[in-house]
Amino acid sequence: DGRVMSIANTGEQLAAHLAATGGRVVTRFPPEPNGYLHIGHAKAMFVDFGMAEQYGGDCYLRYDDTNPEAEKMEFIEHIRDIVAWLGWKPAKVTYSSDYFAQLHELAVQLIRSGHAYVDHQTPDDMKASREAREPSPWRDRPVEESLRLFSDMRRGLMDEGSATLRMKQDVRNENFNMFDLVAYRMKYAPHPHAGPGWCIYPSYDFTHCVVDSLENISHSLCTLEFESRRASYYWLLEVLGLYKAVVWEYARLSITHNLLSKRRLARLVSDGHVHGWDDPRLLTLAGLRRRGVAPEALRAFCREGGISRNAAEAHLHKLEHHIRAVADVTAPRAMAVLRPLRLVLTNLAADHREEVAAKVFPGRSEDTYAAPLTRVVYIEQDDFREEDSRGYFGLAPGKSVMLKYAGTTRCTGCRKEGGRVVEVQAEYARLQEGVKAPKGVLHWVAEPEPDAAPPALEARLYSTLFRSQSPAELGDEWLADLNPESLTTVAGAMAGPALAGAKPGDCFQLERLGYFCVDPDSAPGRLVLNRTCMLKDSFAT
Ligand code: ATP
Ligand code: MG
Ligand code: MG
Repeated sequence: DGRVMSIANTGEQLAAHLAATGGRVVTRFPPEPNGYLHIGHAKAMFVDFGMAEQYGGDCYLRYDDTNPEAEKMEFIEHIRDIVAWLGWKPAKVTYSSDYFAQLHELAVQLIRSGHAYVDHQTPDDMKASREAREPSPWRDRPVEESLRLFSDMRRGLMDEGSATLRMKQDVRNENFNMFDLVAYRMKYAPHPHAGPGWCIYPSYDFTHCVVDSLENISHSLCTLEFESRRASYYWLLEVLGLYKAVVWEYARLSITHNLLSKRRLARLVSDGHVHGWDDPRLLTLAGLRRRGVAPEALRAFCREGGISRNAAEAHLHKLEHHIRAVADVTAPRAMAVLRPLRLVLTNLAADHREEVAAKVFPGRSEDTYAAPLTRVVYIEQDDFREEDSRGYFGLAPGKSVMLKYAGTTRCTGCRKEGGRVVEVQAEYARLQEGVKAPKGVLHWVAEPEPDAAPPALEARLYSTLFRSQSPAELGDEWLADLNPESLTTVAGAMAGPALAGAKPGDCFQLERLGYFCVDPDSAPGRLVLNRTCMLKDSFAT
């Protein structure tokens, strides 16, 4: 009974499977509800839902919920929400825990057929005997004894940790994952979906293959770390006489400057290194959504990466490329100034107020919005220097630049207070035909109307969460690699008219500053913008 058995289904099993599926492809996306999903799960969904879609089949969303201590209703709800946000429609939503009764019956059947035994080894004993390739001393206990003890476990008559049910597999197999894997363990913990009523819970290795079979999954796709568990997957279905799906493994997605592991993401959240699972610095799907990344961009990124068995770290700039490609056609332009510097157009009257037409999608459409031009406008502090230099396109004394959509300004001087430039003066001129426009083009916003109270604007600018390209290689030192400058909060920014009425989730291209998305922290009178990404690739290639 120790050898890995043939994966072939019997004619009867195949017939029953085909009767249930009509020969259609059936896949499942099986997240454990022990955290929020990350971009690696977007790839898994692309594989699972994508394959079903491609072959006209069905994909189920299956909560693989067999570790009650780690799992929460919050995560269950989040997963449903974020799967829909990505645009995938599960043919049905299932829970491994919905099969607890059936799984328990199959465990009893497994003991009866001599393929499982109740064990009392501690995890340390188990490890030692595994390394010595010594079977557990309880391995050959009588079937009746295991049946009685398993029933005691089920009824809560034993202490947590005092007994497990182990599969009687192949202790001499080169593959450690055939060394009598644990099928059930005791946990005096209620289950977030199944409720109370259970104190024994099936392991991944016992559950996953059985539920795939019970759900008539045709193709069970998973990541490569499960490859060595495939032997156990087929072994169990074979000894239980159950139909077997085709199992395929593919490489996990990893992305430079990030770590994709729920355990580590949970640590960043619980230790307060980031502000929650949806912090825009994280590559969680909730974080990406909040940052302004469109689901289409994630899908395109997954599609480009493809599905293969070669693990390769995707460079963050590949993701940004797809984010920009979508934002470029969906995010209307707007102007805002992050660090305002007062610019007085000295040849305009104090009450000058005219409207200039600013483009919504330059080069793509003729649509415009009205931007007021006033005697005082604001430009970025960085766009003025007291001394001009080659390659600098901002304003400097004696130099002319364009105020985008409005005209040209020629700088005549500046006023300083305590060594800091607090005001720049310039003369304004409408751009005339035949006159060559200056090379520098600045974004700007007008002075608010005297009795208008424009919203306070806060911009959150992000840099990579980790400094090194591959923080996964740092092992236990990964936390020390966090980038202390991953978030820069800029308060006191000024919003132009195109941002009036902006709602959380709305995305804009702020001229020259990047793509931004309105954060849910916004409130009446307070606009918070997350920078999704810069307009151009910021990575040196
Ligand atoms: P983590 O280690 O981040 O907790 P996991 O594999 O334990 O990931 P699950 O919720 O069990 O997370 O994963 C659900 C599905 O998503 C599985 O099929 C898993 O293989 C897949 N998956 C998880 N992470 C990645 C990744 N980085 N790339 C591709 N697929 C992934
Ligand atoms: Mg898992
Ligand atoms: Mg995990």
